[in-house]
Amino acid sequence: MSRTVVVTGSTSGIGLAIAKAFAAGGDNVVINGFGDAAEIEAIRKALETHGGKALYHGADMTKPDEIADLMETAARTFGMVDVLVNNAGIQHVAPIEDFPADKWNQIIAINLSSSFHTMQAAIPAMKAKKHGRIINIASAHGLIASPFKAAYVAAKHGIMGLTKTAALELAEFGVTVNAICPGYVLTPLVEKQIPDTAKARGISEAEVKSDVMLKFQPTKEFVAVEDVAATALFLASDAARQITGTHISIDGGWTAQ
Ligand code: NAD
Repeated sequence: MSRTVVVTGSTSGIGLAIAKAFAAGGDNVVINGFGDAAEIEAIRKALETHGGKALYHGADMTKPDEIADLMETAARTFGMVDVLVNNAGIQHVAPIEDFPADKWNQIIAINLSSSFHTMQAAIPAMKAKKHGRIINIASAHGLIASPFKAAYVAAKHGIMGLTKTAALELAEFGVTVNAICPGYVLTPLVEKQIPDTAKARGISEAEVKSDVMLKFQPTKEFVAVEDVAATALFLASDAARQITGTHISIDGGWTAQ
């Protein structure tokens, strides 16, 4: 039976791969995020080629009223939200003393608070149906820190706490809540930086990957967006019904150090 899956921040990168993976199995997907309207419509149409329906909602994850409308629209269109994937996220890199307060507030809103708002909307129907899956895309930075990423690390550690709390509240209702903690993921955004960095540093593109970008990732390989999507599919499956309140790291050994 097809499920209804909401993926926040799914017009590119990891979120898009997750939406594609669920759609490929015939699920209905609700995508969200920013971008060119024609490109988003092309993505939406492509998601409908496996039998499920796809809906786009442009809610800004910093705005609780727009998030409420996204969740209400998803539930009204498809009956209920079976799987909620909280994925939208942004980054800003600066020392704490120079970190702009508005960037701090924006990152906490998108990377942490938006998940509280989506969960608050999704939980009543999941509890009533005694079935649901909530998957939060955290990060290796939900487990460990790096300098100059104060807001991102704080938000990602926060989502780990929210994941555990929700898991305990929902454990007796057939609803699981888990986080996925990716390391460095090869998204189009990252790929584009490789040739320029190689030129700027006078090193090969392979050295940019292994010595600059993947300095802390022992496998010296990027995580693929499809790897994260496959883990989300697993966490949404019946086989994962006893997995709750925890995280799965996909970081090439980064956090083992
Ligand atoms: P991305 O930039 O490719 O995608 C981010 C998505 O979020 C886009 O669809 C964008 O439009 C959307 N978005 C941004 N601000 C938004 C807002 N205010 N409202 C609604 N949507 C908004 O990034 P990505 O690399 O795919 O990252 C996705 C998630 O994975 C993030 O939570 C990120 O922290 C996490 N993550 C990424 C990596 C990595 O190396 N790329 C590693 C660990 C965790």
